Amino acid sequence: MEKVCDVLVVGAGPAGSSAARAAARFRARTVFIDKKEEIGVPVQCAETIGKYLLPLLPFKIPKDQLVWKIKGMTFWAEGIKITRQGRFWAGYAIDRKNFDKWLASLAVRAGAELQTSAELVDLEVDDKYKVKRAYVRTPHGVISIRPKVVIAADGVESSVLRLLGFKINKKENLGEVLGFEMRNLNLEKPNYDHLFLGDFAPGGYAYIFPKSKHAANVGVATLFPSKSLEEYYEEFLEIPEVKRQLDGGVVVEEKSGKVPARNLVDRWVYGNVLLAGDAANQNIKPFVEGILPSVICGDIAGRVAAAVVKGVGLIDTYPKRVKMKLGRLLKRSNAVMSVNDSLFRQGAKGALLSLCLLAEVVPLREIIKLGEEEYTSVKRYIEDLSVRWGSK
Ligand SMILES: Cc1cc2nc3c(=O)[nH]c(=O)nc-3n(C[C@H](O)[C@H](O)[C@H](O)COP(=O)(O)OP(=O)(O)OC[C@H]3O[C@@H](n4cnc5c(N)ncnc54)[C@H](O)[C@@H]3O)c2cc1C
Repeated sequence: MEKVCDVLVVGAGPAGSSAARAAARFRARTVFIDKKEEIGVPVQCAETIGKYLLPLLPFKIPKDQLVWKIKGMTFWAEGIKITRQGRFWAGYAIDRKNFDKWLASLAVRAGAELQTSAELVDLEVDDKYKVKRAYVRTPHGVISIRPKVVIAADGVESSVLRLLGFKINKKENLGEVLGFEMRNLNLEKPNYDHLFLGDFAPGGYAYIFPKSKHAANVGVATLFPSKSLEEYYEEFLEIPEVKRQLDGGVVVEEKSGKVPARNLVDRWVYGNVLLAGDAANQNIKPFVEGILPSVICGDIAGRVAAAVVKGVGLIDTYPKRVKMKLGRLLKRSNAVMSVNDSLFRQGAKGALLSLCLLAEVVPLREIIKLGEEEYTSVKRYIEDLSVRWGSK
């Protein structure tokens, strides 16, 4: 059996559902597929979204999707704590199981056809990366789909990229996260996300991201692991401040996964294929915030794809349109990331500098200069800052 469509979207996560919605709204015959049986399950996420990105979304998120209010973030390193509020640090906890289903329902309502338990397993491609046919395994056998445009929204381990012939260096480009949802916690500041920096999370951070007064996503995210994440996680749990809050806590769900730390490939457009979301490394560092950027970029990909099939737009306009919307944030995010990458080799001093960088209490260019000082004077400097930034 062969199916013909205008736009085939691979993946029904935030990027894919948003892309499918946009393409269908602009009257492209749109099919979106996901290998999952149930959209949004399993959750591989810490489920926090930044308030600053809400005005950039193509549609409003209803209040019932915003399950918990986050007023700010605390940053901890070497026993020093800095608290930030508002701006980049305020947001909401969401429930990805419901959120992803809601997004997919928007696409279906716009007219896109959703197929779950449908895994892209092969592509027929010409030598200019033009996809002619996609082969999709379903419970009823393998079907072929003939699309005009493909949107690769299939996440950090993108099958589309693999089937186009790209070899992704996972060790170099992907970060790893070991995370759990825990309940029955004694959270001290339940309306703040808590970030912990130290050698228990090389190149990344450990976190407690509340979802309610007594529940939170807890985990370690690292870029340069030299031992198992379980060992790092155990070390993180030994921090007295963490122990106190998690004591008596119960793990209800594992939510581990991988995140893109660097571009997996050089471009966002290959032949008739557009990359969106994690497959395109469209997230904001240092927190690797990918949910809302994926929705924003997915929407642009869907609009561009629809315009291409209608003959009123060019596929190459996609990167420019993404940069118009998120360019400033993505540029800054790359700059922060490259400085942060260089800090983890400096051990305890690096953790303190990383705190300055992530909490944005010292300008980027001054962090490098501060790094030339001894550990004790860096610590003293940051202790003074922590008084100024209202931490307890
Ligand atoms: C542990 C962890 C914590 C995170 N915490 C946060 C956070 O707090 N805030 C935040 O903003 N971001 C967070 N992120 C990042 C965020 O989850 C991603 O950036 C976001 O999900 C990207 O959306 P996406 O649609 O591109 O990809 P995904 O959400 O990964 O969706 C891709 C979809 O493609 C499907 N798929 C894959 N291959 C195929 C195939 N061959 N055929 C059919 N379907 C396929 C998958 O089943 C999946 O449903 C976190 C990530 C991890 C791993």
